[in-house]
Amino acid sequence: MTIIARRALVAALTAAVLLPPAAAIADGGTPGLGGAPTTPDTTSSGGTGLSGPTGASTAPVISSAACAVQGERCHHGDMLTMTGTDLESVRRVVFVGRSGHRDARSAKPIAETDGSLSVLVPAHARSGPVRALAANGSSPAGTITIVAGPPSAPSPAGPGRSVSAAGVFPIGGPHTFGLAATNRFGGRRGHQGQDVFATCGTLLVSARAGTVTQATFEARAGNYVVITDTTGESEVYMHMRAPAIVAPGSTVAAGEPIGAVGDTGDAQGCHLHFELWTAPGWYRGGHPIDPLAALRAWDRHGGRLVHLRS
Ligand SMILES: [Zn+2]
Repeated sequence: MTIIARRALVAALTAAVLLPPAAAIADGGTPGLGGAPTTPDTTSSGGTGLSGPTGASTAPVISSAACAVQGERCHHGDMLTMTGTDLESVRRVVFVGRSGHRDARSAKPIAETDGSLSVLVPAHARSGPVRALAANGSSPAGTITIVAGPPSAPSPAGPGRSVSAAGVFPIGGPHTFGLAATNRFGGRRGHQGQDVFATCGTLLVSARAGTVTQATFEARAGNYVVITDTTGESEVYMHMRAPAIVAPGSTVAAGEPIGAVGDTGDAQGCHLHFELWTAPGWYRGGHPIDPLAALRAWDRHGGRLVHLRS
């Protein structure tokens, strides 16, 4: 199918498949766009020179959607990852379900870049079609089957292993290590971590299992999260695009989504500023150590849990 034919189909489907009214969309409590998608922004057709003739008005097109473990079979709470084009315009994902609008559920993406999007399957979502909604259109995103059981645990640390030694690379997409002195640990006064550059909106996951001990905003750090494991070691994630999706006091597994790469606070370019602290943890008496070796080791394993020798 050509792109044009595909877009025409998407437009036709958008018109044919009635979008759930806002009132029918339960949402796990995430504030967001409460209403139905707005009509396409016709004022953008004149072109401002900023985004080009197709920039702002291109509707998202989904080419694949799958849950991590079983593809189109998902549990509530699983992460559904989509690929396609123009996905950063997606504001909500609707799990249409099967009986009209009544069982439709929607969720705001955790992370989205032009080419990929991550969303958690909301509680009470039913098996059925999924649609990605943007202000300027929507795209079908396949059909999922909800299977019973708890969310597919993202790589829990195995029994008998040191939790603190097990980790997953925290950025779920293309990235580049900042190797300039200012991006390295200790490279400039007060730089206590390693910068890793990635497109704003790229998924961030917890590198290690632990408890969320901070999740807040600070002028220099921007939106940031501190996760502390049972040994008291902690890791810190700064400059996140939006407040973390995990709350202080909650426990996270290694590989569990926590938010998205951003440039909030004192950040030059979209990047993760990552710190590792010895026990008893971040500003609790521990001290920062150079995390680059750990990050590289996790990175070599492509998102799978890695047990580092300590
Ligand atoms: Zn930094």
